[in-house]
Amino acid sequence: MAPADIPPTPLPGKKRRIGVLTSGGDAPGMNGAVRAIVRMAIHYECEAFAIYEGYDGLVKGGDMIRPMAWEDVRGFLSEGGTLIGTARCKEFMERPGRLQAAKNMIAKGIDALIIVGGDGSLTGADIFRAEWPGLLEELVASNELSEQDVQPFKHLNIVGLVGSIDNDLSMTDATIGCYTSLTRICEAVDSVDTTATSHQRAFIIEVMGRHCGWLALMTGVATGADFIFIPENPPPATWKEDMCDVIKKHRAMGKRKTIVIIAEGALDQELNKISPNMVKDVLSTEAGLDTRVTTLGHVQRGGTPCSYDRMLSTLQGVDAVRAVLECTPETPSPVICIVENKIVRRPLMEAVAQTKEVATAIKDRDFEKAMRLRDAEFGEYWKAYNITTNIEQEALKLPKEKRMRIGIIHVGAPAGGMNAATRAAVAYCLARGHQPVALHNGFPGIIRHHSDKPVGAVRDIPWVEAETWASKGGSEIGTNRGLPSEDLETVAHVFQKYEIQALFVVGGFEAFTAVSELRKGREYYKAFKIPMVILPATISNNVPGTEYSIGSDTCLNALIQYCDACRQSASASRRRVFVIETQGGKSGYIATVAGLSIGALAVYTPEDGINIKMLDRDIDHLRNVFRRDKGQNRAGKIILVNEQASKVYSVQIIADMIAEAGKGKFESRHGVPGHFQQGTTPSPMDRVRAVRFGVKSVQHLETFAGMSMEEIDDEPMSTAVIGIQGAKVLFSPMEHVERKKTDWPARRPKEEFWMELKDIVDTLSGRPHVNPSH
Ligand code: ATP
Repeated sequence: MAPADIPPTPLPGKKRRIGVLTSGGDAPGMNGAVRAIVRMAIHYECEAFAIYEGYDGLVKGGDMIRPMAWEDVRGFLSEGGTLIGTARCKEFMERPGRLQAAKNMIAKGIDALIIVGGDGSLTGADIFRAEWPGLLEELVASNELSEQDVQPFKHLNIVGLVGSIDNDLSMTDATIGCYTSLTRICEAVDSVDTTATSHQRAFIIEVMGRHCGWLALMTGVATGADFIFIPENPPPATWKEDMCDVIKKHRAMGKRKTIVIIAEGALDQELNKISPNMVKDVLSTEAGLDTRVTTLGHVQRGGTPCSYDRMLSTLQGVDAVRAVLECTPETPSPVICIVENKIVRRPLMEAVAQTKEVATAIKDRDFEKAMRLRDAEFGEYWKAYNITTNIEQEALKLPKEKRMRIGIIHVGAPAGGMNAATRAAVAYCLARGHQPVALHNGFPGIIRHHSDKPVGAVRDIPWVEAETWASKGGSEIGTNRGLPSEDLETVAHVFQKYEIQALFVVGGFEAFTAVSELRKGREYYKAFKIPMVILPATISNNVPGTEYSIGSDTCLNALIQYCDACRQSASASRRRVFVIETQGGKSGYIATVAGLSIGALAVYTPEDGINIKMLDRDIDHLRNVFRRDKGQNRAGKIILVNEQASKVYSVQIIADMIAEAGKGKFESRHGVPGHFQQGTTPSPMDRVRAVRFGVKSVQHLETFAGMSMEEIDDEPMSTAVIGIQGAKVLFSPMEHVERKKTDWPARRPKEEFWMELKDIVDTLSGRPHVNPSH
């Protein structure tokens, strides 16, 4: 856990001091970063200081720079905005302001700064670091400090975290706050959606983003909007006709509503501003639609952070402290980023320079470059959006011999995003000339259908029907846990009868098992010698071949909502411990990541099990926590227990044991959120990833078009699972994943990438670190 070499403290006999500040516009999740930084610093035997009101606090010094104790950041994770304040500070833009800031830092003994802010704040930090030696010389020359005073502070360590709702920093897939902002926007669009449908209206919704279209693009993808405007890829001068053309086509195909998303920095290719009112005029007069404009404004700044932002800010905060301790004077200042599922460090100034280049490229009308400078994911989402909303372009259609009938089936329990994936797959199929075919109610559905009900269970999906599924929870085509092995022969017969030439399977571990059975069934039934892809969709996130299943983010958000409510309910009584049971089957992923997002006191997983010593130690830990409590514990403590962590210790038993040991000093309650964890409306992250992976999956199936059955059978990638692995999105051949990566009895991957997160949950809750088997 400890960084390789913790450098010596600048002041002999004193602990190393690390300062944290939040700067620029506030973003949900900033508090989670501050909490993680403070606690991680203390964990590594450093002292943590909060610098209040951003650089303003650094320039003013004194009481604006305060030491932070472990308890001072209690409850921070679930709070929106920034509790240590932020400001835009003019003085820091000038050298005299930074000179004063340097003096204040030395006065407090701080030689490392972690800045959570946007590109402006990070630029300021890097300038400060570059100037640092000169600032010290000046302080000595002007006799404000002596050579002896500055001697221990020769190097300033700077680490950046990006807090920004726009997701406008290059080199990272996500900035702290962007998914919460997207959540608020999607909630608003979903609400507008219903009224738009009722009245057959058009709505134009303006979202934030001056030089960055991430929020607009992702909203378009998540909500299935009809048209979007983003600054990086502006439409040509003919945009009015083009937009009307697309929207009229959608209406002609039966759509009752029209949603247009426009980024506040929207332009045309001549750099003329496109305003929501201009779009409204076009839709009213030229498309004849009853059109309204909704500007969302500051609600987009977020409020309560979503699960992803709590997790991201926590993991980045942890890495920021490690980076401070590992960086040498020669290391360029890093910014902590995330690529797909991996926390990575990037040179701060390169990331800032690349970000600034986007604005320059837009100004120079080099839009291809502007798109290139965004991460690869952005470009993929743009393509996925366009192809799934503009399905009538002849140029996109494949030649007739390459078009396929693609079966779509859901397997296992419903998970948020299943419908979004299906909608995207249907739209993509139609755009390319394939025929999407719904196989209703999983494998038992098609088996039963064949035996007694002749119609309904296998049918072509019309575009307009799937169009309404973008934001829907559950499974519109029906899902079932049953496996094809129930009656492989009938399944083969149905595939043959309906000429299924490729299969897109959406679901969890059962879906994985089903594709495995079909793959093995190829030996007996040639109907299975077709390409098949599984898109993992399960709240348990236990499908081998991926680190992320759609639906798991929706589940985490439902769980943190439940836990936040429990916690708050204890604010009056205090000193209450909630023992909450999570789903997840035999995988502790959901419990662990929810634990990270809510700051659980402990997490019990099936991987570790529960034993009496563990409970005993945790009860001792609780006693200590409550003994130290000086009234800061305004909210309850949470212990998360996976449903299969133990056959003996149920949440009720654990809660009773805690209450008994509390002897009136603390009490406990248990809670079982059960199916609440499947969530209602799927989270935007599940929706956008469902679209991206849905499109990618069908693209993968498409590569087999025109191949003979034997060729397909010989190709290992003809049965594949799509997934995130580290920093990449990959297809993996089923045969390999089944054999090498699957723990079949435990129904989970052999190696679970999130195991190390358990240590972080423990560290940040102050739980003594112990080997679970002892
Ligand atoms: P947002 O994305 O919300 O705009 P930001 O960090 O880019 O966040 P800015 O207003 O650009 O927001 O910067 C915040 C503060 O950072 C400024 O008020 C200033 O104190 C400091 N800062 C920004 N740019 C510089 C710079 N070039 N030199 C020194 N300090 C700077």
